[in-house]
Amino acid sequence: MDRLSELPPFIIHHIMSRLSAKEAAQTSILSKRWKFSSGSILIDMVECPNMMVLELSRVPLTEHEFRVLISNFPLLEDLSVNLCDLLKRITISSNLLKNLSICFCNNLKAIDIDAPNLLSFCYCNNPIPVSSMNAPCPLEVQLVTGEVDLDTQWYIKMKEFLAESNQIEYVFLTLMSKKKNSFNFDECRESLSSFPRVIGNLYVSICEPSVHYTVLLDGLLEVCYPRTLSVLIDKDTSFIEWLYEKLRNVDASCCDTLDIKCWWHYLKDFKIEGFLRSHPEDQKPLCLENLKDALHQYRIRTVQFHLHWCFPEFYK
Ligand SMILES: [Zn+2]
Repeated sequence: MDRLSELPPFIIHHIMSRLSAKEAAQTSILSKRWKFSSGSILIDMVECPNMMVLELSRVPLTEHEFRVLISNFPLLEDLSVNLCDLLKRITISSNLLKNLSICFCNNLKAIDIDAPNLLSFCYCNNPIPVSSMNAPCPLEVQLVTGEVDLDTQWYIKMKEFLAESNQIEYVFLTLMSKKKNSFNFDECRESLSSFPRVIGNLYVSICEPSVHYTVLLDGLLEVCYPRTLSVLIDKDTSFIEWLYEKLRNVDASCCDTLDIKCWWHYLKDFKIEGFLRSHPEDQKPLCLENLKDALHQYRIRTVQFHLHWCFPEFYK
């Protein structure tokens, strides 16, 4: 039995930090799972070719060191890379890797993932990377925007990133930027003419009520077409009220001469799929007529819109 693996991570770290290099290497033979949060024992990890689970946390690795390190573990199935701030590019090529998670690597610019048997991939709170992905598995993306310009270039980068995967299950966007947002459809289409990806769920959490609603929605729905759009609000319900009216009054009188048109033209219908109140024990279906009242009365935090899209022939 692999007893070391069953210990809580902080205890493993505590043990590992007190071992000599030789002892650490020997321990690796006993354990399939190691959690590293210090660079000091990296050298010893190279002596563990049978390692299947690896979590790198706050390890000051460069791109080259990361590649060399990973190449020493040909049997790796689970890999987490967290808070590795020296990494600007992550390159992974593996036929055995099943689960991959890359989180809070604040200077990451690019990822190259060739993992044809990957089962799950979570990309969480890193910058939007330039990417090439051969990873036919559900992808979950979580991004907090921070103080960036939410402009057309930001949306283009996001669209390019999502275009690399064709199984995007969840995209969580937490919009915290106080900067002015802008989006220009023509500029976006000139730079990237592809049809937006259809994705499972887009969660948008708006922390900054000054966001320009039309610009935000046009930008987001040029990045992807979500089957479910969930809007999380803190206090101000005005975006949800605005969105509800906007979706009810879609008027597609633009884009006549374009092959690929803006999102209005493809949205056929929508319905409110659900909502979460502050008190989850009191969930009831919501009638469309009372959305406004319900928002105020029940302090609803999340509203899910199911969007019914109808795409042109060439996209099917
Ligand atoms: Zn249009």
